[in-house]
Amino acid sequence: RCDVKSFLKRNWLLIATVLSVVLGIGLGVLVREYASLSNLDKQYFGFPGELLMRMLKLVILPLIISSMITGVAALDSEVSGRIGLRAVVYYFSTTIIAVVLGILLVTTIKPGVSQSADNIDREGTTPNVTTVDTLLDLVRNMFPENLVQACFQQYKTQRKEIITLNSLTRDLFCSHFNKLYAKNKTFYYKIVGAYSDGINVLGLIVFCVAFGLVIGKMGERGRILLEFFDALNEATMRLVQIIMCYMPVGILFLIAAKIIEVEDWDIFRKMGLYMVTVLSGLAIHSIIFLPLIYFAFVRKNPYTFALGMAQALVTALMISSSSATLPVTFRCAEENNRIDKRITRFVLPVGATINMDGTALYEAVAAIFIAQLNDFALDVGQIVTISITATVASIGAAGVPNAGLVTMVIVLTAVGLPASDVTLIVAVDWLIDRFRTMINVLGDAFGAGIVQKLSKRELERMDLTSDVDVANP
Ligand code: ASP
Repeated sequence: RCDVKSFLKRNWLLIATVLSVVLGIGLGVLVREYASLSNLDKQYFGFPGELLMRMLKLVILPLIISSMITGVAALDSEVSGRIGLRAVVYYFSTTIIAVVLGILLVTTIKPGVSQSADNIDREGTTPNVTTVDTLLDLVRNMFPENLVQACFQQYKTQRKEIITLNSLTRDLFCSHFNKLYAKNKTFYYKIVGAYSDGINVLGLIVFCVAFGLVIGKMGERGRILLEFFDALNEATMRLVQIIMCYMPVGILFLIAAKIIEVEDWDIFRKMGLYMVTVLSGLAIHSIIFLPLIYFAFVRKNPYTFALGMAQALVTALMISSSSATLPVTFRCAEENNRIDKRITRFVLPVGATINMDGTALYEAVAAIFIAQLNDFALDVGQIVTISITATVASIGAAGVPNAGLVTMVIVLTAVGLPASDVTLIVAVDWLIDRFRTMINVLGDAFGAGIVQKLSKRELERMDLTSDVDVANP
């Protein structure tokens, strides 16, 4: 009995969150069935969920800045270089594995072959963009011209809404904005909403790494700054703890409001095979591949590790944003899986921004699905192009809802498919996005575990924080 009590005490938040998901779905179905809400009523209904999202987004900026700077400054430059390299190699190789898996599945299952693409609207010209342009744009984003602006990049679309995208994707996407607006207004405003308060996280991360390295080398004077950011980090994490108590309430209303909002459930039947392809790819990657890789390096039970991340995974599933899940990812990784703070602070924000296995897999599947719908035969060169651009597009996608759908245009244009065809997969994206975000977060967490294991000796040698456990005991 004591065991049950201590189990409940330790896991109350997770239990409450899972319960709130179930209750939220039930509530959503009931309201949908028995009450006819006006649009305004729906907005009121979703208000508690909206608050949760706002709170989580609120702490992203101080969290990323303080954790990256202290994470880097706590290591000497040689060690941080090696840790960074290990992380990047892990990110890159797992993303490629995900893309290849996606390509294998979509070319075997062929979800687009039996469907017709009669409703495809192919007006307008597609700007000609090369993979090099895409890469350059990614690098451009790493060096923001203005640090303050990087915290709230804004851009006015043709329809005068303000959005944030990196310049290339923005141009591509905006050239289709009007058409998208005509086809699917709800989605259009969602994209505009998602990008109107964006942060150029990649740019900030690059700045913070450089800043952290410099502080680490400044000796006594650098300590003042280090202590400042360390205290900022601690304060932010305490705020996160408070926000997390609100999480079950927020999630209940978030999911219920979503169920009430969705207009077309039939679309899931029509797009069934496509959904099955993406979801089975995500399942294979997260249940087999990632755990195998983790086990190969760490020699510990990967599923216990994944269970430790459960709160973050449920959060990602519910809010479709790796960045907004980051505070929870930190807590799970550090508290449940006991990953060294020097690793999490350095590796998790980078992972949430550039390591998106789920998104990469989805981009490859969706691009080939659209090619199949168009009866567009892809040669080997084009498949290779798709795998490269899908990887780049996943790195370039921000950790916000539907970002992968926006960067899809990069993949489509690279092989000459009409970029406006993203509208074909828009209707089911809200659901797929949740699952791919969950896999993105899981990939980041496994990455932190593996990098910690590989860096064990260096960390022990530095022995800066004697109170932190090494590896998952
Ligand atoms: N929503 C995803 C994330 O935040 C990105 C995507 O749209 O694929 O990780």
